Amino acid sequence: MFKQNIQCPNCNKAITILLDINNQTFNSIIRKCELCFKSIEIDYYFEDNEIKTLSYNSKK
Ligand SMILES: [Zn+2]
Repeated sequence: MFKQNIQCPNCNKAITILLDINNQTFNSIIRKCELCFKSIEIDYYFEDNEIKTLSYNSKK
């Protein structure tokens, strides 16, 4: 797992999320904010031991 700090798109607080990095490909996941408990949709691409792209939005 890879720890990534983001700003929650729902409550705008800084939170830490855990990303699964087993498959080196494009990933789209849903995580719950640890503070406001709303869902966040996270898209990322992991390759060569680093996050290449990361974007996230509130999940309606
Ligand atoms: Zn939040």
